Amino acid sequence: MARPSACPVRMGLQPNNMIPRVLSGVQPTGNLHIGNYLGALSNWVRIQHDYESIFCIVDLHAITVYQKPEELRASIRDLAALFLAAGIDPKHSRIVVQSSVPAHAELAWLLTCVTPMGWLERMTQFKAKSALQESIGDGLFQYPVLMAADILLYQAAIVPVGEDQMQHLELTRDIAQRFNALYGETFTMPATKLPAVGARIMGLDDPTTKMSKSAAGAGHAVALLDPPERIKKTIMRATTDSGSGVDFETMGPGVENLLSIFQAFSEWPGAEMRSHFTGMRYGDLKKQVAEMVVSKLEPLQRRYREIMTDPGYLDSVLRAGAEAVTPVADQTVQLVKARMGLYTA
Ligand code: ATP
Ligand code: MG
Repeated sequence: MARPSACPVRMGLQPNNMIPRVLSGVQPTGNLHIGNYLGALSNWVRIQHDYESIFCIVDLHAITVYQKPEELRASIRDLAALFLAAGIDPKHSRIVVQSSVPAHAELAWLLTCVTPMGWLERMTQFKAKSALQESIGDGLFQYPVLMAADILLYQAAIVPVGEDQMQHLELTRDIAQRFNALYGETFTMPATKLPAVGARIMGLDDPTTKMSKSAAGAGHAVALLDPPERIKKTIMRATTDSGSGVDFETMGPGVENLLSIFQAFSEWPGAEMRSHFTGMRYGDLKKQVAEMVVSKLEPLQRRYREIMTDPGYLDSVLRAGAEAVTPVADQTVQLVKARMGLYTA
């Protein structure tokens, strides 16, 4: 099958014809799950052609907790292939490995210097992730500043993410506002864009915690590349509650999570969900959710396997992505340095 080549069009500091720019990213920290797909990736695919889109593999974020080098290297490529398999169109959208554009790290330092520590201490994700570490790296603390840099570097107007990133987006706006107030209007104020359904998929083993790549436990998540039998097993074992049939008024978080997964994949309207599932036994609900997930992931898995047979293609997409965005990123850093009074040649 002929593969679309990556887009050669150059980008400017401001998006073309003032079409808003979209930016989002995923960390290459293990196996992508259906939460990442429904909260982020599928939304990106849906909106990518309405905007100038940049999708990042944020490897500098991944190393805020220790990653085995050989696993990280493989995860970066895997993630690029999954972006393509999910439907990111490299003819239109840029797929960029964060560390291949040095301006991300450079702008992060410049923004660190305008960010009060108190703002970072309030971040709930820092509190949750640092609680799991014996020794807390400074990178974990600075993580949201790097994320602000990722977004502000490209003057992105829209950031499609899951609900867990809302606080980091608010912080990004605070940092942008503070910089603009101190040094003059420099950054576009980015807006958060959540999917209508699927913005927060919960763990299947514990529906009170967010489904996460870094969480342990075989029953926690459905990974995008899980074989059908495993997907079925994980969903059939999902935690529900002591009820026996679906009741939309009294359902617990486990049942609600399963229904959200079904609705996000099927795109059924709420009324159809209610009439179809009301009164259904939990065992049957799980079976239908499992079938829906398997049928939606099957084409993605097929495309992923095909893309992975051609490593040269993957490299060409990542190279083209970095080449296209580097001039924009460098211009922003130059502008920021000039505004701050740093030396610029
Ligand atoms: P990690 O445990 O390594 O932080 P993660 O599963 O939280 O992994 P990220 O790489 O941090 O994944 O996030 C990638 C994108 O997926 C973000 O836009 C985030 O909001 C979204 N996302 C993550 N988890 C969920 C979830 N459970 N439901 C919906 N969206 C999610
Ligand atoms: Mg996360």
